[in-house]
Amino acid sequence: GKILVTGANGYIATWVVRRLLEKGYTVRGTVRSEEKAVHLNKTFAHYKEKYETVVVEDIIKEGAFDEAVIGIDGIAHTASPFHLKADDPAEIIGPAVNGTLSILKSALNIRSVRRIVVTSSTAAINSILPERKVFTELDWNEQAIEEVQQKGKNASQVSKYRASKTLAEKAAWEFYNTNKAKVSWDLVTMNPPFVYGPVISDISSPSALGTSAGDWYNSIVRPDSGGKSLEVLATSGGGWVDVRDISLAHALAFQKAEAGGERLLISAGEFVFQDFIDAANSFSPSPIPSHSDLPKGNPGAGKGFQAKVAYDASKASKILGPELVYHSIEETTRDTLADFESRG
Ligand code: NDP
Repeated sequence: GKILVTGANGYIATWVVRRLLEKGYTVRGTVRSEEKAVHLNKTFAHYKEKYETVVVEDIIKEGAFDEAVIGIDGIAHTASPFHLKADDPAEIIGPAVNGTLSILKSALNIRSVRRIVVTSSTAAINSILPERKVFTELDWNEQAIEEVQQKGKNASQVSKYRASKTLAEKAAWEFYNTNKAKVSWDLVTMNPPFVYGPVISDISSPSALGTSAGDWYNSIVRPDSGGKSLEVLATSGGGWVDVRDISLAHALAFQKAEAGGERLLISAGEFVFQDFIDAANSFSPSPIPSHSDLPKGNPGAGKGFQAKVAYDASKASKILGPELVYHSIEETTRDTLADFESRG
């Protein structure tokens, strides 16, 4: 089969491309400019005719993906703004929602397409409640949408992003349910929490890391933990998953018939930053000898801390099967530090 991956140069998407190629799929990746194709083409050069990059300059333009979807059997839509810099919430919600609708519209009449996997997020699932709650695929984050509706530009940056993911996923399901009878494909959404782990996308320096990997680097590698206080390190976190596992989950979603029509919450478990810091300091020799000044935080202070937000990821394990084995905090930490070390 041939899979189209949108935003193929992204942190997660480059891994999705790699996982699909490893499984024998042919992949067409989309990027916004020729310049962003260079590193991808180099990374996957040994797959020769099994990988190509195409440019889709503006994903929300009418018919943007019309050409890209021709001859495609499945689509992984990952392209969506992930930053915390929007002034007007529309700057981030617009491309998230309309980019999703754009790819679905372009696929509407393409009979070869059998499945579309949209990268959503636990941001579209969880809200912040007074009591701890274990969230599942049945939950929707109405809270962020309401905050953005009420506060507009003054909503928190995190809420603007979270609203964009919730509204984009809602739009995807609504479009699918409206057109179910006439399309040849079904829809799957992937809902991961924070994604960490080694980077294979085009990153020249830590400052170019994406939002999640950048926050991990700042907290675990920078001597000042990026300014996070000891208390924040021991109490701030949430669910997490290794980028190698969420990308494998995307690939498996194309292989498992039972995934059709499902939201899949993918999570390795809970963390606070201190857990990763403790892991980083536990290796001998250190996987990152050039940084002998890794922060220590308050060793052990994160142990047993229960965040208000927790996830039940058992449905995805059942549907995606035993091939999806999550990396542990220790494994991800070791491999991510080794990755940073290898880049100098
Ligand atoms: P990256 O920022 O590394 O990748 C985002 C991709 O989307 C890039 O290819 C980027 O293109 C593209 N993109 C962003 N804005 C636009 C736009 N306006 N028009 C067209 N393309 C755009 O992020 P991640 O890999 O971390 O995220 C990928 C997906 O996974 C997103 O949908 C994100 O919401 C979701 N996700 C991420 C999590 C994480 O912790 N990383 C957690 C849960 C979900 P360009 O390089 O040209 O800007």
